[in-house]
Amino acid sequence: MALATPIITATYAEIALKGRNRNTFMRKLINNIRVALKGEPVDDIRHVESRVLVYLTDADAAVRVAGKMRKVFGLVWVSPVVPVPRTEIDDELMADLEAEREPRLTRVCEVAIELTEQNRGTATNFKVATRRSDKTFALKSPDISIAVGAAVHQSCELPGRMADPDMLVNVLVLKNDVLVFTGKEKAFGGLPSGSSGRAMVLLSGGIDSPVAAWLMMRRGLRPEFIHFYSGRNLQEADVAKIIVLAENLATYSPVPLNLHLVPVVPFEMRSIGVVPDKYDMVMFRRFMFKCANRLAKHNSCRALISGDSLGQVASQTIHNLGAITPDIEMPILRPLIGMDKMEITAWSKIIGAFKTSILPYRDCCSIRSPKPILNARPQDLLRYSEDMDMEEAVYHALKDSDMVLVGKESPDNSEK
Ligand code: ATP
Ligand code: MG
Repeated sequence: MALATPIITATYAEIALKGRNRNTFMRKLINNIRVALKGEPVDDIRHVESRVLVYLTDADAAVRVAGKMRKVFGLVWVSPVVPVPRTEIDDELMADLEAEREPRLTRVCEVAIELTEQNRGTATNFKVATRRSDKTFALKSPDISIAVGAAVHQSCELPGRMADPDMLVNVLVLKNDVLVFTGKEKAFGGLPSGSSGRAMVLLSGGIDSPVAAWLMMRRGLRPEFIHFYSGRNLQEADVAKIIVLAENLATYSPVPLNLHLVPVVPFEMRSIGVVPDKYDMVMFRRFMFKCANRLAKHNSCRALISGDSLGQVASQTIHNLGAITPDIEMPILRPLIGMDKMEITAWSKIIGAFKTSILPYRDCCSIRSPKPILNARPQDLLRYSEDMDMEEAVYHALKDSDMVLVGKESPDNSEK
């Protein structure tokens, strides 16, 4: 029978570097884990010796729980582990040392052998990596590795290899338990969701903006989304794709998120015949940022997030980026500004958005007039804004907007 792993251990990195605020970050992290694991058979979540330990009442849930924990920002490594209580180790070890025998570490070796058999797959060699968090343990890390390595080598007939092994058997000595594990999955690091406040994401149906949102969520921002749709109403616009993109992002959030759906028609009604064709695109982008800024203020957001990448399309030349928002005081975060499309696409696949992003969608940017100006000047955009009455367009667009909630509801979430 497969060896059950009733504990998941996870490490964090950046939070450890925080000074006086560290406890606040830690509390947030643990709370976010708790919410992410709601409905799972979790008995307890503890912060022990610079690690988070999640105790399960049903060991069969380990893989699923570890998968959910990988999506909690702040965690760096996640591994299901088998605990061996120190009470099953310490007396035997003391007896061995007193009798000047080779230390047996019987129970640890048994578990290591079983885990190796269970998970060796096609591995042709292995290494034991030991860490002592509790330095009072009577055996030093290299000696533990030698004892466990010899047992695994003999029983599993696998040669040891110190450099670049196919398989790692980890042993971690804590105060009350020794944890043994073979699988260690990389999580995404970053800062706990909500620890950096809120921001409004301009979310399109393309590849870029979901990645931009995710990267800033990883820095602890809690997003709200704003999407602009063309067409007379939501049914005609068919925003199902946008909702799926937002739902995917919400799987990285401990709380449900707001998605605002804003019509483009109020802009078009006022700009047609007033704004010259070659300014249509940059003026439309100005309209989007003005709406996002207004909504952000109403929703306690402190920044806007957009998926611009320098030079990617005409509206994202350095001139245009500077000319579109001269009067928006809120910081505009553009995490993709220095990335090329290949890098952005790689992220899109990692975060699980790509397959949705490439589905066909009639985005309002794709139907703007071709050949936009490359080097717009802010004063011209301000003048056209007056001519078309941009403020009115923004007012009516937001008045006619809708809001949907994405992500799972969690009634007992104290942090909302
Ligand atoms: P693509 O992957 O096709 O480049 P994109 O979302 O980046 O998709 P762009 O035309 O490059 O599309 O737009 C730049 C940025 O402007 C987007 O990343 C997004 O932040 C914002 N944006 C564009 N269209 C919309 C829209 N319909 N609603 C909200 N934001 C939008
Ligand atoms: Mg783009």
